[in-house]
Amino acid sequence: MSVEKTFNPGAAVHTDGDLRYEVIIGCEIHCELLTKTKAFCSCENRYGGMPNTRVCPVCLGLPGAMPIPSHEYVEFGARAGFALDCSVARFTKFDRKHYFYPDLVKGYQITQYDLPLCSEGKVAVNLAKPDEAPRFKTVRIERIHLEEDVGKSLHIEGAHSYIDYNRSGVPLIEIVSKPDMSSPEEASLYMQTIREILRYIGVTDGNLEEGSMRCDANINLRVIENGVEFRTPISEIKNMNSFKAIRDACTYEISRQLKEFREDRQAFSQGFKVTMGWDESIGETVVQRTKNSFIDYRFVVEPDIRPLVLSDEFLSVAKAEVGERPAEKRERFKREYGLSDFDVNTLTTDRGLSEWFESAAKAAKDPKKVANWVLAEVLAIVNDRGVALEDLKFTPAHIAELVNAVVSGSITSKQAKDVFARMNESGERPDAIVKELGLAVVSDSSAIEKIVDDVFAANPAALEDWKNGKTNVAGWLTGQVMKMSKGQANPATATALVQKKLADIR
Ligand SMILES: [Zn+2]
Repeated sequence: MSVEKTFNPGAAVHTDGDLRYEVIIGCEIHCELLTKTKAFCSCENRYGGMPNTRVCPVCLGLPGAMPIPSHEYVEFGARAGFALDCSVARFTKFDRKHYFYPDLVKGYQITQYDLPLCSEGKVAVNLAKPDEAPRFKTVRIERIHLEEDVGKSLHIEGAHSYIDYNRSGVPLIEIVSKPDMSSPEEASLYMQTIREILRYIGVTDGNLEEGSMRCDANINLRVIENGVEFRTPISEIKNMNSFKAIRDACTYEISRQLKEFREDRQAFSQGFKVTMGWDESIGETVVQRTKNSFIDYRFVVEPDIRPLVLSDEFLSVAKAEVGERPAEKRERFKREYGLSDFDVNTLTTDRGLSEWFESAAKAAKDPKKVANWVLAEVLAIVNDRGVALEDLKFTPAHIAELVNAVVSGSITSKQAKDVFARMNESGERPDAIVKELGLAVVSDSSAIEKIVDDVFAANPAALEDWKNGKTNVAGWLTGQVMKMSKGQANPATATALVQKKLADIR
């Protein structure tokens, strides 16, 4: 007896004509680590440079060379695992994965097969817009394992191919998710979240243009037609290095798979997988190879590296290095500084920015005002001029001092803009600029009273008008007081004193 198939409650079900389907996406993210050296040798780990200048017998895979995993490499891997709520293994080992490719010098890649460093983690992906309260979806992490990057082939069209081994042996982690994402948007947000977390904890620069982070997406559809379930063949879209590419490629794949399904209703079969590339220029996925059966990589234990036994101390250091993660920081900023979702999201996209803001907020009397200055003025300079926060002439302490001057009433908000412009040019402290420009607001009533007296004495005609019932005289006189004080009189005090004196006249 056949059982009618239905979608699970809560599944994101889409409709296309008479078909109803669900999208299933899982991601594999490769991420280069920011360690000082390569994974198994002491060559410097750095992007670019003259080809083949950072190589040695180990990363060139010369016979007899002995790879030794660096402490920092394993520590960064464990730190990533803790940051993504994984269990980190006390006992782990390396394996060889065999395949042929010109830029894979050894004929195998050192990776981890059956005992990955980290397993069973999870990450909360925020699906809400930046100005909305967060709405999280949990994506499970199957495993994170350590491996090494390969060299790079450079093809000069119509001429030769060259190989640069500077990247050979660069430390990588591969993060494998469960197929928990149900739309192209979710897959893209998942990669953004992983990148943000790993950058926060300092294990990668996450530089997408330089290929420090690449994502492969496995995508297929679960179609239910008249109570019968079909699963379309899985496409693995390789090596995408932008959030937009993930979104666009997955969107394209959904329509391509639907079309293919309508044409021949090819059923899902275990292990059947098509490897695709994403061609941004034509906006289509392109078949690279079809795997009708499981490829045998002939995994064997790496005989040159002893299994790793990680001590409690090693693991507790890695865990402590994680620190506060972006989502936790957002919650705290909202709570401690009373900021909106939008402000918090902008201030915490980058760890450096969040720390810059917080250091100013802690020293200021009004953290909300600090947030406004940072979001409006400071970021405008950073974005317009393309300068880093640490290269600005002013520091968080300057912003705190400026905000405090406004809050205490010693300068007006308008004057603060002038002070800001000046401190941005010269790096002088706001208090010094205020003194130098003679900007300080005069709130001392006796000083303002003197000016009011002078203004009244100099304008008898205006006072006549007032006596004859003209009401707009008060505002005009206050303007004269402000003018005579060169804008330094506290406007509220000036207004009150003018009104008091006028009341006495009438
Ligand atoms: Zn080397």
